[in-house]
Amino acid sequence: MKLLVTGGAGFIGSNFVIYMLREHPSYQVVNIDSLTYAGNLENLKSIENHPNYSFVKTDITDSQAIDQIFQQGIDMVVNFAAESHVDRSILEPEVFVKTNVLGTQVLLDASKRYGVTKYVQVSTDEVYGSLGETGLFMESTPLEPNSPYSASKAGGDLLVRAYHETFGLPVNITRCSNNYGPYQFPEKLIPLIISRALSDQALPIYGDGLNIRDWLYVEDHCSAIDLVIHQGRVGEVYNIGGNNERTNLHIVKTILHELNKPESLITYVEDRLGHDRRYGIDPTKLAQELGWKPKHNFETGIKETIQWYLNNKEWWTRIQSGEYQQYQITQYGER
Ligand code: NAD
Repeated sequence: MKLLVTGGAGFIGSNFVIYMLREHPSYQVVNIDSLTYAGNLENLKSIENHPNYSFVKTDITDSQAIDQIFQQGIDMVVNFAAESHVDRSILEPEVFVKTNVLGTQVLLDASKRYGVTKYVQVSTDEVYGSLGETGLFMESTPLEPNSPYSASKAGGDLLVRAYHETFGLPVNITRCSNNYGPYQFPEKLIPLIISRALSDQALPIYGDGLNIRDWLYVEDHCSAIDLVIHQGRVGEVYNIGGNNERTNLHIVKTILHELNKPESLITYVEDRLGHDRRYGIDPTKLAQELGWKPKHNFETGIKETIQWYLNNKEWWTRIQSGEYQQYQITQYGER
């Protein structure tokens, strides 16, 4: 079995590559990633010499390069590659459309041409828009994306659906809530707050801090995708979430408490444009159809995650200094 993972040098993709090599020792995993600012091969140090693992620096929008990858005989595809940061999408939407929409279409075309047995699109709950105080996102919830990021992810999802309906491509779409855990780029809330709090820097919180996100430990996301690849009913969407809704303020206070830092570091800043108020995922379909259950509870998961960032300070300081890119430039040339 040859599994193509795109975006495997990013946060979730790198956790997934490591997870799959551990859970499926006979699988060959081909990781392709264009190594944007968010791609970091240091995440994969523990498996870089694994006999069943290979990496090719490739952009998913480059149809010729993608065709060459598929010529190796790819059986299944999991597409993580994306521009993923909402704030960046507000400043620079174009690259989001290019990677998240066009890149998806290029992968779908190659998957169709070479007849893969499963194509899984890793999407997000953000495509559903924002919830009021009650209710949860179901797979049937209409797509109402509010940011250029979520709109581009919704665009990718619609193409995946269309390739199934039009060409019969065997696809699944997964829509997961916010992930946390090791190797998350320090621009995202949890590692951002940990790294800034450790150096006693102000902790910027959007608006009143009461926006709600539903948090899932990254390994539980990986186990869900593993199930969907193998057992997901073709053409279906599966929501993934751990029923852990927390306000941003709660997350920041939890981190401050664990690090023994004062709440006076919290600084409220002007709200993000179009900031969704609340996300909450109903994962019942995944649980009932495929028997998925998350292993990590939020209270212990967040403590373990904080400890991981404390133990791996070198990893994120190398990102903050830009040093992590040096290795990649040496290996793969200028970006
Ligand atoms: P990330 O930004 O950490 O990683 C994205 C990876 O994709 C990077 O390694 C980057 O180099 C690569 N990439 C970007 N553009 C590329 C291109 N054109 N060609 C090839 N590679 C490219 O993101 P993440 O947080 O790991 O998210 C992975 C996927 O999961 C994304 O599709 C995202 O939408 C989705 N998702 C993320 C979350 C979350 O909380 N982080 C939640 C739900 C879904």
